[in-house]
Amino acid sequence: MNDYPPPSFDAHSTSARSPRPFQPPLKKPVQYVKGVGPKRAEQLARLGIATVEDLLYHIPFRYQDRREIRKIAQLVGGEEGATVGQLVRMGRRFVTRTRRWVLEGVVRDETGFLFLRWYNQHRYFEQKYQLGQRVLLFGKVEVGLKGGVWMIHPDMELVEEEEETARILAIYNKTTEMTVGSMRRIVHGAVLENVDLVPNGVPEEVRERLGLMDLSAALRSLHLPSLEENVAALNNAASLAHRTVVFDELFYLQLGMALRRRNMVKEDGLSIVPGPLVRQVHEILPFHLTRAQERVLEVIFRDMAAPHPMNRLVQGDVGSGKTIVAFCAALAALDSGYQVAFMAPTELLAEQHFRTLTPLAEKLGVSIALLTGDLKPQQKREVYNLLEQGKVEITVGTHALIQDNVRFHRLGLAIVDEQHRFGVMQRAALKKLGANPDMLLMTATPIPRTLSLTIYGDLDVSAIDELPPGRKPVTTHVFHEGERQKAYQAVKMQIDRGHQAYIVYPLVEESEKMELKAATSMADQLSKTFFKDYSIGLVHGRMKGEEKDEVMRRFKAGEHQLLVSTTVIEVGIDVPNATVMLIEHAERFGLAQLHQLRGRVGRGQAESFCFLLAQYSPADESIRRLRVMVETNDGFKIAEADLMFRGPGEFLGTRQSGLPDFRVANIVRDSRILEIAREEADAWLAKDPDLTSPASRRLRSLLEDRWAGRLELARVG
Ligand code: ADP
Ligand code: MG
Repeated sequence: MNDYPPPSFDAHSTSARSPRPFQPPLKKPVQYVKGVGPKRAEQLARLGIATVEDLLYHIPFRYQDRREIRKIAQLVGGEEGATVGQLVRMGRRFVTRTRRWVLEGVVRDETGFLFLRWYNQHRYFEQKYQLGQRVLLFGKVEVGLKGGVWMIHPDMELVEEEEETARILAIYNKTTEMTVGSMRRIVHGAVLENVDLVPNGVPEEVRERLGLMDLSAALRSLHLPSLEENVAALNNAASLAHRTVVFDELFYLQLGMALRRRNMVKEDGLSIVPGPLVRQVHEILPFHLTRAQERVLEVIFRDMAAPHPMNRLVQGDVGSGKTIVAFCAALAALDSGYQVAFMAPTELLAEQHFRTLTPLAEKLGVSIALLTGDLKPQQKREVYNLLEQGKVEITVGTHALIQDNVRFHRLGLAIVDEQHRFGVMQRAALKKLGANPDMLLMTATPIPRTLSLTIYGDLDVSAIDELPPGRKPVTTHVFHEGERQKAYQAVKMQIDRGHQAYIVYPLVEESEKMELKAATSMADQLSKTFFKDYSIGLVHGRMKGEEKDEVMRRFKAGEHQLLVSTTVIEVGIDVPNATVMLIEHAERFGLAQLHQLRGRVGRGQAESFCFLLAQYSPADESIRRLRVMVETNDGFKIAEADLMFRGPGEFLGTRQSGLPDFRVANIVRDSRILEIAREEADAWLAKDPDLTSPASRRLRSLLEDRWAGRLELARVG
């Protein structure tokens, strides 16, 4: 219907010239809406609603089916229902048993009486009504012990014209100061006045093909559903109107991402080609690369050879062999005369990479250095100098790599391991150490595709989806806290067969100090009781590097049968003879993290086990979560489940995740739509890469409008 926005809509781009800046109607502050004064505006602001447009996108979270107004006698116990009657009694009553006041009322129609009760209802609510008035009630119907028909906490409103009462009613999020009714009046006022001004973002051609609605019609229908709507679909956010609004939002996200990808491709970068080092490395490796490793490496080399910066994310399950792939990429950079920075999130991990890579580097005659915060100032300065003079070719390090004093002579490739632990800014800082170097990001926490499309839509992603040969899946059991002895017994069985075991004692949320204490007393207790005949080692995050190394070395050499540790082990060590891991308080962990921990066993030839010791009651979600660990060893499946259970925000952890805040879309719920949006956005850009066709021109301005500030898309196109 309203396919073209009013001509004024784009006028803000020229507003700099006019003395009184023109405000497009949708961008006006909420005060312009009827019934909104300064106080209301302030309350709305707390809901994140500042403009008229925000009100239009304040989508109801629930719908009440009030299409059928029943007689009181026809109300069905246990179901929600709506009825109209005359208020015949209303008053407060003190309930001696609970020692609280309740508000009670009685409504009558020609078929019977309906009893009402509210707890904690406000005085003004009571005063709003007078006996004899006709009221509409909506709520869950309950039949009392003596046969009376009740509604507890029903919605009640005055009925003026009965014809108007049959409808599907939208329920909105509101602040405590507002009533349900006042919130609805404000939103509906804004909708009736302005919704037709909302421009269709998605090109008509695409909308038609997908059978989507006109955007403003969709918004209108979400706020003021017609009587023909399917209430269940509305409540599940699955109505056509929902899908239309969600698609619109996701289409723009994907369009923006795709444009960003294209812009990056246009940037000038280094052209790096593999040479003798890459050829030699195959000869010195003690194994053949897996097909998956080869395939990913090929893509990486192709990216690096192109005269544009590479931006590739490599996902690979724990143990899939990402390090060696990164190393081969590094060698290609050296072959072309560049330096490489390899950044890891922890000292332990950086040290481990350094230790794994040093022998390989030595065989190839490549210089390699370690740069972490642990180094003495003198040592650091030395590394800085070598880097600046180009005398070190590969530098493995932590955040210490992006400190002020670090300068590279000729950085060609920046590798980020466990990249999800770094923020966007940190990645950017690393990139700035060179002149548009290639970036290779790696993660062992597989990001479900839906999520990676959303947050990494501007990266190229590939997966190492195959483990090196000989790995056996780890058998996993969940033990209830009450079965602790049984779990210990199972651990003991493995040790008695000559294997070794980890006991991981993780305390999230609590301080490192607590964690330390817990692990220490745990080790102490076990060595006196259940495992008193065995040698137990202890590692935790507080230990000095050398101390830690010493314990690890002894464990690796088989001098300890058991290693009690805090979560430092997550990224720690590789001991093929360790075949069992017991994880304490498993319920406190995200599945992805448990999966990482579990990846420490199953590295040798023998069958391996992971025991999850957890506190839960049968109905708990935590046990359902943990069962996923039992059912699968596939990191991607686990990540999907983790995402479902915890939601995208928590799944990604910290704020730095770069997850855009959607108005309506929910990437877990709407993953199908996201896929389609991605395809459509790509297809559109393939046809019109610079958004120059008449149909695209509007896309471009809307794109800037919608995502400005949110996705740093200001410089689109
Ligand atoms: P992740 O992907 O978890 O970082 P790593 O790179 O640490 O995995 O590799 C895990 C282990 O597998 C290492 O001991 C590594 O040497 C070994 N590895 C890597 N690639 C292969 C391969 N193709 N064949 C056999 N072992 C491999
Ligand atoms: Mg790794």
